[in-house]
Amino acid sequence: MRKRRIAAFAAVLALLCSGCISAFATAFYDVPDDFWAAPYITSLESRGIVSGYGDGTFLPNANVQRCEYAKMLVNASGLPLSTARTSPYADLNVNEWYLPYINAVTAQMPGYQSTTPGDTRIYFKPEDPATREDVTVALMRVLNYDLSEYYPISDALLSDVFYDYESIPKQDRPYVAEAVKRGYITGTQQGTFEGSDPITRCEVCAVLCRAFPESGTAYVEPQDNMPDEIASGLSDLRVYFINVGQGDSEFIILPDGKTMLIDAGTADHGDEVCAFINGLGYSGIDYVLATHPHADHIGGMREVLDGFAVGTFYMPDALNTTKTFENMLAKLLEKQINTVRTEAGMIIAQGAYTIEFLTPLNTYDDINNSSVVTRIAYGSNVFLFMGDAEKEVENDLLRAVGGDKLKADVLKVGHHGSSSSSTPQFLSAVRPAYAVISVGAGNEYGHPTEKTLNNLASAGAAVLRTDTDGTVGFGSNGNGIYRLN
Ligand SMILES: [Zn+2]
Repeated sequence: MRKRRIAAFAAVLALLCSGCISAFATAFYDVPDDFWAAPYITSLESRGIVSGYGDGTFLPNANVQRCEYAKMLVNASGLPLSTARTSPYADLNVNEWYLPYINAVTAQMPGYQSTTPGDTRIYFKPEDPATREDVTVALMRVLNYDLSEYYPISDALLSDVFYDYESIPKQDRPYVAEAVKRGYITGTQQGTFEGSDPITRCEVCAVLCRAFPESGTAYVEPQDNMPDEIASGLSDLRVYFINVGQGDSEFIILPDGKTMLIDAGTADHGDEVCAFINGLGYSGIDYVLATHPHADHIGGMREVLDGFAVGTFYMPDALNTTKTFENMLAKLLEKQINTVRTEAGMIIAQGAYTIEFLTPLNTYDDINNSSVVTRIAYGSNVFLFMGDAEKEVENDLLRAVGGDKLKADVLKVGHHGSSSSSTPQFLSAVRPAYAVISVGAGNEYGHPTEKTLNNLASAGAAVLRTDTDGTVGFGSNGNGIYRLN
């Protein structure tokens, strides 16, 4: 009697505690709030998909056993538990907790044929570490991913991304290709997939959270301190339109942790651009692009080049006679920064995501039209950055690049919402869900114009403006866009 009361009391206490703990970022002693996978772990834990250990730890960096993964996968997908009291595998204890979970995923997570001659039994090896391949293939099978259309092209997809794609068994490649394409999992920083490597508990949480997001779009809080050395598990793409008054500056955190800066605002906003990037925990920027040599785009570059280790600097074949432009060139020389002149069709990164410069397609008189138009694609999501390109460039893009490639989820509206950009024809090709106008309050140019705002509204875009919304951020898991901040 007494024992039962204690058990009931413990259950109530556990309920109370799980309620109060969920108010904090993480429920585990060994998962700091600022750990890169904390949002994933917290999300899955709050939904009952994963749990920690009795001592309040989660052991995020421990390997996942195959039986543990079977349970996580069943919990995440809602696959019905098996009530069978027997097992098709020779090495399972039918009295163990794992039986209903492993029996639930026999079709998706097969066991191993014995290699001993004469032994026809099949083994599950429940305590073996789950490999990256195990996790990916079983996940995609649970998602009822249809292989048939992918067999011919998965090799081509994978060979672009992973040096070691041939070590992935041929029948598994379509699953891996699709999972990578959807952003559920990625390879290592070295460009390999390492399919036979074990996967850790926190990595599995990232994979499952991406594949089974919480209802609503913002399923996971953005983490701004994800270290570069995270070997596997892509983070979401994050794009920030920094409020630099009348000017442009966009900071992009790519799914593999690399970073890109497009423009840096005027000189008097350079310190804010630097502070914003520093605030996200970055001291270097892999790719910096100056879209065109106007002060409201390159003014802050000198401070950026002074403040950050820059991988490669990109600029168009366009000159300006201003001091601002000369200062930037002098700083590039002084710091000996690798500087590349952009060309139309130049792809500077390709793999799980693609960064491509779409212009120049012509020669133009107006410096605004020398703007490098940048397309960043991640999974099925596209961001299009127009710089100050005007309708001449828009028309050339429609003609030379084509509407399909211009379709974007988020459009950085050309030339601060000036009426010289954003024609209805162009917008009907881009069909942006979100249109961001980088603009200063009460600017002397009358940006953005009524005409542009009307065109954007007619195109069905939700308009965000840095003068009224401040810095605007978006996240993408390759499969959907959500607002940050
Ligand atoms: Zn401008």
